[in-house]
Amino acid sequence: MKHLQNLQSIADANDDTRASGTPGYAASRDYVVDKLRAAGYSPTVQEFDLPVYRENSDATMERVAPTAKTYVVGTDFATMTYSGSGQITVAVTNVNLTIPQTNAPGTTLSGCLAADFAGFPLGNIALIQRGTCSFGIKAVNAQTAGASAVVIMNEGQAGRNDVVAGTLGAPDVTIPVLGTSYAVGVELSAPGTVPKIGTDTESAIRTTYNVLAETAKGNDGNVAMAGAHLDSVVAGPGINDNGSGSGALLEIAEQFAKVSPKNTVRFAWWGAEELGLLGSEHYVADLVENDPAGLADIALYLNFDMVGSPNYVRFVYDGDNSRFPSAPAPQRAPKGRVRSRTCSTTTSPRRTSPPRRPRSRVAVTTGPSSPKASRPVVCSPAPRASRPPSRQLSSEGPRVWPTTRATTRPATPSRTCTRAIDATPTGRPSTRVAGPSASAIR
Ligand SMILES: [Zn+2]
Repeated sequence: MKHLQNLQSIADANDDTRASGTPGYAASRDYVVDKLRAAGYSPTVQEFDLPVYRENSDATMERVAPTAKTYVVGTDFATMTYSGSGQITVAVTNVNLTIPQTNAPGTTLSGCLAADFAGFPLGNIALIQRGTCSFGIKAVNAQTAGASAVVIMNEGQAGRNDVVAGTLGAPDVTIPVLGTSYAVGVELSAPGTVPKIGTDTESAIRTTYNVLAETAKGNDGNVAMAGAHLDSVVAGPGINDNGSGSGALLEIAEQFAKVSPKNTVRFAWWGAEELGLLGSEHYVADLVENDPAGLADIALYLNFDMVGSPNYVRFVYDGDNSRFPSAPAPQRAPKGRVRSRTCSTTTSPRRTSPPRRPRSRVAVTTGPSSPKASRPVVCSPAPRASRPPSRQLSSEGPRVWPTTRATTRPATPSRTCTRAIDATPTGRPSTRVAGPSASAIR
C-alpha cells in the first residue's frame, strides 16, 4: 500500500499520469530504482526506443485553385499516422499516377521509385497513388525529392476507393502526409490544382525504460523471472493498472533481498506495456539478438498486472484454460515446493550442475541500444482494443497528450504478429495503427 501511495503521489506531481515517456514514468522508474538500491539490489535501467504519434488538431485540406473547394476530414481525407506537421499552399505535382486505373490491385508503382520523382519541382505537393510499396516508402521518397507535403490517394480498383487512412510505420518524415479517396485524388490531379493542407502532429522517437534487478544469490542458469508493467495509460495515474502489480513486485523484491533463493530470481518493471508490450518485447528481442544463452537461462516468467483488490479471493485465474480454449493445453506444475525461508522456485532445474559460467547478472543494455536492438518490437504489436474508450494510447514526452482523437486509438482488436506496415528496409514496426482503414497499408 505504501508503494501505491507513493506512485499516486508521483502521478499527482506529474499531471496525473505515469504513462511511458512522461515525467511521471521517469519518476516511477526512479522510485523503483531507489527502492531496489535501498534493498541492496543493483538495478539496471534498460533503454529502448518508442515511436510516438499523436494528432494535436484536425488536419485541413482545401483546394484554392482553379476553384475553391473544402474537403472534409474523415470523409475525403485523413492524416497518415506518423505524418509530420505543416501548413502548405502550393501546387500539386502528380507522381506516376494511373488515371483511370487499369492496374491490378496493389500494383501501382506511384512513388515507390526515386525515378518517379525525376524533375519534381522543389516544394510542391506530391500526389501519389496507393500500391506496390508501403505508404512510408512513398512519403520518404517524396520528402527526399523535396516535396513539402504528400497526398496519397487510394488506388482506384474495386475495394480501393475509400479514404486511405494508414500508417507510415515510423516517424521518418517531417512533412504533412494525408490519405484521400480515389475520387478526391482524381480531382487534385487536375492541371492547375493548388491545395491548401494543414496538419498538426507530434511524431517522434522517444526513449523509455525497463527496470531490472535480480537476487545476488541463486543459480544463474535457472532464472525465475517476475515482471509487472510500470507504465500507466495516459488518461490516469494507473494505480490499479499497474501500480498494484508494480508495487506488489517491489514488495516481493524487497522481501527476497533478505533470503537466499536456490535459483536466481529476476524482477522486471516494464515500460510501454500500454502501447503494446513494447518493454517486455524489447527485453526478449534484445536477449535473442545479444544473449541467446541468457534467454535460455530463464526457466519461467510470472506476470503481475492489476493484482490489487479490496475484496480479494485466492483463485488461480483460468487454471484449466477454459476461458481461452485456443491457448496451449494446461501444464502440470513440476514437482517441488516453496520452502519458507529459502524460497526456491518450484521448477525443475534444466541444468543442475555445474552452474553456468559467470557472466553479467543482467544481460541488458544500459546505454542506447544498437539500432537493430533498439527496435521496440519484432513484429507489430497492435495495441489491444479491449480497453475502455477512456484509456487512450499514449504518445510520449511532456504534454503531448492526452487526446481523444480516433487516430490514436487502436484499430486492431487483438495483438497480432501481423505487420502493420510492409516489411521494408526503411519500415519499422509501428506501435499503433490508426484510422478507419488502418489495414490499408499499401
Ligand atoms: Zn496492465
